[in-house]
Amino acid sequence: MRKAVYPGSFDPVTLGHLDIIERSARMSDWLIIGVLNNNSKTPLFSVEERVNMLKKMTSHLPNVEVKSFGGLLIDFMRANGADVVIRGLRAITDFEYELQMAQTNRVMAPEIDTVFLTTNLKYSYLSSSIVKEIAYYDGDISEFLAPEIAECVREKMSERKKNG
Ligand code: ADP
Repeated sequence: MRKAVYPGSFDPVTLGHLDIIERSARMSDWLIIGVLNNNSKTPLFSVEERVNMLKKMTSHLPNVEVKSFGGLLIDFMRANGADVVIRGLRAITDFEYELQMAQTNRVMAPEIDTVFLTTNLKYSYLSSSIVKEIAYYDGDISEFLAPEIAECVREKMSERKKNG
C-alpha cells in the first residue's frame, strides 16, 4: 500500500492546497495530511482548528486522513508507515527551499522520497499568508478559499482586531 504524507501549515487551507490534496489522493492508496504544530510560528488558527477545517474540506475523499504533528517530518512519516512526501511547487521561489528540505530528508531517511506537484496555474500566486494579509484589511478572499474557510478567516480576523 502506497502511503503518502502532505505536510504543511495550512493556516488556513487554500484552494491551492485543496487542488494538491485532490490530485495526490488520486495518486496514492492512502494520503495523510500532516498539519504542522510549529512553535516557532504564530499561526492565525490553532492546530486543532486547522485539522478540523481540513477534515471538513476532505470529508468526500475516502482515502484521506488528517493528523497533526510536531518535530521532524521523517519521524512522523516513519510512525505512520508512509514513504512518500507530497509538496506543491508554485514558482521558482519555492524551489530552493523545497529542494533543500527534500535532499536533507533523503539523507536522514533514504527510504523516503519527495514528490512535487506543480500548482494548478489558477492558484500559482496563492499563499496562506497573502490571504491573511488581504483578510486583515477586509479585502475579498472568496476567490482563494472555500466558502466555509473564508467565513472562519473573517471571524478569526475580527476577533483578533477586537482583542487588539
Ligand atoms: P509550509 O509552512 O510547510 O510551507 P504551507 O501550508 O504554506 O506550509 O504549504 C504546504 C505545501 O503546499 C507546500 O509544499 C507549498 O509549496 C504548497 N502550496 C501552498 N500553496 C500552494 C498553491 N497555491 N498551489 C500549490 N501548492 C501550494
